[in-house]
Amino acid sequence: KGKDYQFMLRLKQPAGELPPELYRTIDDLSRDYGQGDLRATTRQCFQIHGILKGGLKTVISTIMNIGSSTVGACGDVSRNVMCTPAPFQSPEYKYAREYSKVFAQLFRPMTPAFSQIWLDGEKAASVEFWHKDVEHFNIDQVMTHDNGRGIVLDDPVEPLYGDRYLPRKFKIGVTVPGDNSLDIYTNDIGVIVITDDAGNLEGFNVMVGGGMGRTHNKETTFARVADHLGFVPKEDIMEVMKSILAAQRDHGNRDVRANARMKYLVHTLGIDNFRTLVESYSGKPIQPWKPIQEFKYHDWMGWWDQGDGKLFYGVHIENGRVKDEGDFKLKSALRAIVDKYNLHMVMSPTQSIVLKDIDPADKAGIEAIFAQHGIKPLEQVDPLNRLAMACPALPLCGLAQTEAERLMPSYLERIRAVLTKLDLDQEEILIRMTGCPNGCARPYMAELAFVGDGPQSYQVWLGGSPVLTRTAYPFLAKMDVNELEKTIEPILKMWKTQREPFEAFGDFCHRVGSSAIEAYVR
Ligand code: SF4
Repeated sequence: KGKDYQFMLRLKQPAGELPPELYRTIDDLSRDYGQGDLRATTRQCFQIHGILKGGLKTVISTIMNIGSSTVGACGDVSRNVMCTPAPFQSPEYKYAREYSKVFAQLFRPMTPAFSQIWLDGEKAASVEFWHKDVEHFNIDQVMTHDNGRGIVLDDPVEPLYGDRYLPRKFKIGVTVPGDNSLDIYTNDIGVIVITDDAGNLEGFNVMVGGGMGRTHNKETTFARVADHLGFVPKEDIMEVMKSILAAQRDHGNRDVRANARMKYLVHTLGIDNFRTLVESYSGKPIQPWKPIQEFKYHDWMGWWDQGDGKLFYGVHIENGRVKDEGDFKLKSALRAIVDKYNLHMVMSPTQSIVLKDIDPADKAGIEAIFAQHGIKPLEQVDPLNRLAMACPALPLCGLAQTEAERLMPSYLERIRAVLTKLDLDQEEILIRMTGCPNGCARPYMAELAFVGDGPQSYQVWLGGSPVLTRTAYPFLAKMDVNELEKTIEPILKMWKTQREPFEAFGDFCHRVGSSAIEAYVR
């Protein structure tokens, strides 16, 4: 008997959108072919874990035939394009959603290999649902337009990616000024919609060169926040997006995989030289970055007015795990709500779900279904838990060096106990954990992070910003899993006694620096 190989399958959901019929389908597939639960990821899509090799073809073709896809959710191409998940109806939010899908369409892999393998060469039965939203952009014309500067290769299959694709994965995020719900600075390209006072689209502020992944004990690898490239008028944005991708395609490091992300190219060249490189492809100077309001972190959980008479509701999901366990029946609750109200979902960038287009008359009914299934209302969720993220790690990820998702709930309880002991209960701290340095839960942006570096052992990172605009620094190379209190209590005590009024934990650690904290706790 051969081995029972099992797989994780990740959907591609540009802007995180998920229609009700697709949710029903993946809910069924996870029950019939997976390990029974679903996982909401940090890049606004669902993963189904535990699919046996024999079930893969059925699962993939079912997903594709209902108008979704897994193509480009993984691999050295543009990954799922992220967007602020708030379904507000204001012009800038609408543009953010629209352009997320346009960029997803622009950079989609075109190879027929996927359908040859998984659909026996047939076309999927329907056009992917999100394509329909951007048909008016005539992407195919954009794809084949060659401005003579070599952006478009002479390759009928992959006009942008050519015959070698990109050196490494490539991540794009789109948001509006002030809304940093998606860690915009961690993307290869971050795009911010700029409108005039009347809500007309002027163009986009574009940032480049963010990325989280690093390798332990390899100083040539590091987490990095994106640099501001500049402002691009709306009529030039396609050309500039293609030019950035082409710059990475042609100049990214293909020799050393650990240094292949575009952040290393931007870092090595410096932002000014990188801008010149992009302009050599696009043929136009990039304008200076437009001043915008400061970013805040929003998770968009709880009830909100959409702006069109409808409501949206953000459902907090601990570490993204949609499951039924004992009296906690989140999976059944979501299915019951989707079946009864036929609601569309938007995945949040922090492993949760937003239910949108809710009739205000249905609010009480939805709350009742959650309550009947043992789901706590948002007010009863510990703010530490609401802010936290952990990656799947053991036993689901082959790269994991230690626990993350399974350990995080008890870690948050222990940190809560320390805060209570120090009379800091009213404070909020953004905490993240991963099972290895790849950084899928974006730990290097958190105020306090634990990054797995071996069995039962974590690096401790401090000093990220509560609004997610700078990276943290490594404070401790190794912390035994049992030494949490011993490690963090003195640091929290120092914060309590030496902070500026209202200074957040991450801002304090950033201001005083690693040496001062080390001297205090020693
Ligand atoms: Fe796996 Fe590491 Fe990513 Fe966690 S951070 S999911 S352990 S690759």
